[in-house]
Amino acid sequence: MAFPDSVREIYQAQLKALQEGGLFKEERFIHSPQSADIEVEFPVGSSLKKVINMCANNYLGLSSHPEVIKAAHEGLETRGFGMSSVRFICGTQDIHKELEKKMTEFLGTEDTILFPSCMDANAGVFEAILTKDDVIISDRLVHASLIDGIRLCSAMHDTYKHSDMAHLEEKLKMYQDKRLRLVVTDGVFSMDGDTAKLDVMVELCEKYNAMLLVDDSHASGFIGKTGRGTHEKYGVVGKIDVITTTFGKALGGATGGCVSGRREIVEMCRQRARPYLFSNTIAPVIIVGILKVLEILSATTERRDKLEKNTEYWRKGLTEAGFILKEGDTPIVPVMLFNAKLAQEFSKALYEEGIYAIGFFFPVVPQGQARIRTQISAAHEIHHLDQALEAFVKVGKKFDILHKTKQDIIARYGM
Ligand SMILES: *Cc1c(COP(=O)(O)O)cnc(C)c1O
Repeated sequence: MAFPDSVREIYQAQLKALQEGGLFKEERFIHSPQSADIEVEFPVGSSLKKVINMCANNYLGLSSHPEVIKAAHEGLETRGFGMSSVRFICGTQDIHKELEKKMTEFLGTEDTILFPSCMDANAGVFEAILTKDDVIISDRLVHASLIDGIRLCSAMHDTYKHSDMAHLEEKLKMYQDKRLRLVVTDGVFSMDGDTAKLDVMVELCEKYNAMLLVDDSHASGFIGKTGRGTHEKYGVVGKIDVITTTFGKALGGATGGCVSGRREIVEMCRQRARPYLFSNTIAPVIIVGILKVLEILSATTERRDKLEKNTEYWRKGLTEAGFILKEGDTPIVPVMLFNAKLAQEFSKALYEEGIYAIGFFFPVVPQGQARIRTQISAAHEIHHLDQALEAFVKVGKKFDILHKTKQDIIARYGM
């Protein structure tokens, strides 16, 4: 037997420790399409409950948009279900090229290459374009998928303090002897909802001859005046060398990702990136759905405008109610609770009140920084937000954390 009890016990002990530390993640089963109103089974085996979803990446409310669903149905009829091949053998349809072209236009870059996911885009891009003679300088809070991609390549790796531009400059000066320098950041940071200072970063990269890679997964489709992303917000469209992003969030929320940027970088990925060469790309039915999403977004900014209004309303409501939020202006609105167990229990109490919002804690965020990460959507109406606010206030009172300082909360619940 290759899995004796002694081995089983090792894992059982680790899992038990997670449970006892309040760090064990439980999934809740959704029985409806993704939307503002969902039907959930939780705990497993209980009857279905109608709740308001406050934690989806469905920023633009397009995950179950009727036109997207209709387009996907048509795509299924005309292009079939699967490709049964990777891109370079016989897995490229005309619609894959069409989506690459449309994303290039949308992001304001030179070229685009699709990946099965943004996780795969990040896993593939670094190794494809860097060698051991190069250096990567990344923000300390970048997404896990960037960290993994960086690990997979042979370039040297260093970091700068989160959004600390003086520290970044110091590091850029330090590595002037390298063949290439690549600065890496998220556009919108997924856990805190703050944005990278891309205007300053572009300036620094020009001054110190470095390339800039931005993962805009939590921005593509809605940040900036026409929703192009964080580079639009900071007025640097056309100046980001590499953008990686996902189709799994605002852009329909199904699956898929891409690398978009300088022509040669995209071509290097096509020749070298392993998740592109050795894994099937996005299925045709999803490609057709994403094309419809881009068509909708190019016709009107109505959805991102509504999202912006909803976000302001939500932040103002929570702040006035006495919650501690992470500062920012994106639809990622973290309600700080600091303690992991408190975050779990707060989430369960919200659920009782008909609100679905998940607690985040170590290792997803640093120790002592547990929170409920709420995310606003254009699918929310004011009545959803009002109902959610009411529930947050009720639960906030129950745990006695309203109008308290961080020290008050930690003194009572621990880190
Ligand atoms: C969600 C996310 C990803 C992963 O996207 P997938 O397409 O689901 O793999 C990558 N980077 C960032 C910053 C993300 O937020």
